[in-house]
Amino acid sequence: MAHSYILLKGATVISMEASDQSLLEQRDILIEDESIKAIDRDIPPPSDKDTITIDATGYIITPGFVDGHHHMWQHLLRGLTVDWSLYGYCCHLRSVFGSLYTPDDVYFANYAAALSLLNNGVTTVLDHCHVINSTAHADAAVKGLKDAGIRGTFCYGFYQNPPVPGDMTSTATAEFGIAARLEDAVRVRREHFADNDINRSLLTFGVALNEPPLQSREENVKELDASRELGARLITVHTSVMPSDITRGEAIQNFSDAKRMGPDLVFSHGAYMTESEMAALQTSGAGVVSTPDTELQMGMGYPVVWKAGDQGCRACLGLDITSNQGNDFMAQMRLALQIQRARELDRTVNRDLRRKTADVLRMATLGGAEVMQMESSIGSITPGKKADLVMFRCDDIDTVPVVDPIGTVVFHASPKNIDTVIVNGKIVKRDGQLVGVDWGSLRDQVTSRSQRLRDDAAEVDMTNAELLFTAAFEKGM
Ligand SMILES: [Zn+2]
Repeated sequence: MAHSYILLKGATVISMEASDQSLLEQRDILIEDESIKAIDRDIPPPSDKDTITIDATGYIITPGFVDGHHHMWQHLLRGLTVDWSLYGYCCHLRSVFGSLYTPDDVYFANYAAALSLLNNGVTTVLDHCHVINSTAHADAAVKGLKDAGIRGTFCYGFYQNPPVPGDMTSTATAEFGIAARLEDAVRVRREHFADNDINRSLLTFGVALNEPPLQSREENVKELDASRELGARLITVHTSVMPSDITRGEAIQNFSDAKRMGPDLVFSHGAYMTESEMAALQTSGAGVVSTPDTELQMGMGYPVVWKAGDQGCRACLGLDITSNQGNDFMAQMRLALQIQRARELDRTVNRDLRRKTADVLRMATLGGAEVMQMESSIGSITPGKKADLVMFRCDDIDTVPVVDPIGTVVFHASPKNIDTVIVNGKIVKRDGQLVGVDWGSLRDQVTSRSQRLRDDAAEVDMTNAELLFTAAFEKGM
């Protein structure tokens, strides 16, 4: 079989490999098919081969970012919740909008969301997909991700949106209930993810469990067992988002008590996890994902990634929802780092602070790969790993001079500096533009579908939903 090659010439490479103590200056990277073949100075182009050569002089190359927690379907609601509380989000978004999505809405949301992530250098995502209102919704969600060409794990959501928007009691009589969902998850696994191996499939299959407080402890364990039986590669669940008994010790402790912890588990948020839960996380090899923007906005506590990392847990960052903020991953890194420095009131009488910029970049790359159990194939730049790369062009008024390349990426570069993005050896963004995307028609789809959803939501009577969520939150807070 003929191979394809990409040769990147003369870049500053931030490999994130522990063995590379310093930056790799003036390095070439040779990509063969899907993988990194070599990193060295002055690599000659493969002879008689079809090679794309890119002059990367003055560019900084990092591994692709890994987003460990994202509800891709909410892309059509970009910015809707910028001033909303967690209560507002649960009551006025989750109980209404999820019910209003058609399968086509889900397709365009997931497709556009994945492209937006790629545009921002996020090459791998865990999609916590809790908008599956029918079998067609599930198919559309998978197709949107596959069409965009992003790497990741699609996590089939067992959460039921109320069939009647705003009426949570309507879930009780829903046709597409938990039994139907389990059956459909088996179908989706079989039809779309016959090969669920990360080395051969760009997109793999996982499960997003129901919200733990909505079920009994036994039901949560049963759902976890069922997810493992159907071959989920990862199983994700929201956990410990409030400082109350409702969410403390809810998921991790429950699974630990039932002896069900394992490295296939990915817990999102978790700021209020107990010490015993943190220990269970560490010994099991399960991961935790902090989403700084949404956690800080919505009272979900301070991002737990630093504490978790200090205690030897797998920990990474996620974007969560674009109904809050955009997909700028550098912004999440800065927020995660600076809030921790502020919390620790680091007034050391040394020049350098304790929490390092390189450490937060690691969380955003190799740390994410570790949480998603993919560190053998992505997360750092080294021969043999998949070629998921971000090239920052840093020669503009906002980035010159480049004194500390890691600092430039995290603190000075913005998405506009992301010139080229490569996923699995394929160029998906070049010269600052996504490749092969009909943006005009996609923009029209996103705009019109978003407007229709918001118009429909405005008609929903929220009286009962507000009563229900007010009571729940007053009890929970
Ligand atoms: Zn979430």
